[in-house]
Amino acid sequence: MNKFKMRRMEPQMNADQKSFIGVHLRASAVSTVTLALMSSHAKPRILTGDTPTGRLHLGHYVGSIENRLAMQDAFDCYFLIANKHAFTTRADKPDEIRQSVIDVATDWLAVGIDPNKSTMCLQSEIPAIDELTFFFAMLIPFNRVMRNPTLAQEIKDKELGDKYPFGFPLYAVGQCADILAFRPQYVPVGEDQLPHLELSREVARRFDQLYCNVNPHTEDADYVKAGGLFPVIEPKLGRVKRLVGTGAPGADGTLLKMSKSLNNAIFLSDDADTVQKKVMTMYTDPKRIRATDPGETDAAKNPLWAFHETFNPDQNWVREQQDLYRQGKVGDVAVKRRLVEVLNALIEPIRTRRKQYESRPDEVIDVLRAGTRRANQIAEGTLMLAKKAMRQGFFDRRLTIE
Ligand code: ATP
Ligand code: MG
Repeated sequence: MNKFKMRRMEPQMNADQKSFIGVHLRASAVSTVTLALMSSHAKPRILTGDTPTGRLHLGHYVGSIENRLAMQDAFDCYFLIANKHAFTTRADKPDEIRQSVIDVATDWLAVGIDPNKSTMCLQSEIPAIDELTFFFAMLIPFNRVMRNPTLAQEIKDKELGDKYPFGFPLYAVGQCADILAFRPQYVPVGEDQLPHLELSREVARRFDQLYCNVNPHTEDADYVKAGGLFPVIEPKLGRVKRLVGTGAPGADGTLLKMSKSLNNAIFLSDDADTVQKKVMTMYTDPKRIRATDPGETDAAKNPLWAFHETFNPDQNWVREQQDLYRQGKVGDVAVKRRLVEVLNALIEPIRTRRKQYESRPDEVIDVLRAGTRRANQIAEGTLMLAKKAMRQGFFDRRLTIE
C-alpha cells in the first residue's frame, strides 16, 4: 500500500463520534441536556472552510491555513468545502464549481492538512446544515442579515449590483448553520469573516435563550454550561487578518483583499514562472516613475511591502530596503525579484506535495467521502438535539453516504 493510500484509511472514531453513536441508540431515553454534556470530554472542536470558487491563495494561507495546521493535533478539526455557497455567484458554472471542490481539497492536502487527523467534508452532502439554516432563518430579522458589512462589501467588490439572487444573503444564515452544526469552540478565519461569525454568535444566543432556557444575562463563554445547545463561538484570526491582492485599490482608494474572485491572487498552486510574472507586474506605487523617485512603503498602500512584511523571513532586510525605497535608492525591480524568491521558497514544497495528489482526483474525493461521513455523525447529532430542544424531535433517523 502506498503512503497516500495509507493516509486514506478511516481513522479511529474519536470520543465524540462514539458518544454520538451512543446518542443514536439511546436517544429517546436521555435528556437533551445530558446529551449535550456527553461530548464535553472530547478534544475541543474547530470548524472552518473555504468556498470552492477557485484554488487557495496566499491570503488563505496566512489568514486561516497556518492556524488550521497549528491546531490539527490539539483539536478535533472539521474543514468544510462550502460548495453550495459557490452557487451564490456562479450558479451558471457548475463544472467550474465541481473542479474547484477538487482543487480546494487537493490544496488542503498539499499544504499539510492530514486526513487522518482532521476531517475534510463537503457541505452539499451534510443535509443537517440546510435544515438548521431553515430554522435559524426564523431567528434573525431580514434587515439584520442585510446589515452584515461582509455581504455589503462582497456586493461591491464582486460588482453584483442589485442583481444578486435571493440565495446570496441567505448564505450568511447558511454559514451560521455550517458553523453551529459542529458546535465548535473556535473558528479560524480571516478578518472579512468576523461579521458572519457575529451573526453565528447571535443565532446561538437566541436559540439557547428561546429553546434551552438560558438566561440572557449569561456570559458568552458559559452558554453551554448554562444548558445551551450551541456555544457562542470564538473567531481565531490568523497572523495576517487581511492580506491585500496584487492589484490596484478599489473605488474607495483602499487596496482590495486578495480573493479568488477578484483576479488579484497568487495561488499556492502557481508555478514558479507564474509567481514571477504576477510579482513583476503587480501594482506598487503609481507615483514612482523612476527608481530614484521616493517610494511609498506603507503596506496598506503598496502590496509589494505588504507581501515582504508578511512572507520575508528576513525582516531586517525588509526594514533596510524600505529605508532605501523611501529615499529613492532602490528600484521596484530589485525588491520584486527578492519577493519572487521568497514566495517561491514558500510555495515550492506545497507545489511538490500537490503533484502527488493532483493526478488522483478520485482518491481526493474518497478522502472527502470518508470525512463527510464523519461530519454527518456530528451534524446529525446536533440537528437531533436542536429538534428536541425545539419540541420537534418526533423520530430518529439514520443517514448514509455511499
Ligand atoms: P471568494 O472571492 O470566493 O469570496 P475568498 O478568496 O474570499 O473567495 P473564501 O473561501 O471566501 O476565500 O475564504 C476562506 C477563508 O480564507 C476565510 O476564513 C477568509 O477569511 C480567509 N481569507 C480569504 N481571503 C483572505 C485574505 N486575503 N486575507 C486573509 N484571510 C483571507
Ligand atoms: Mg470570501
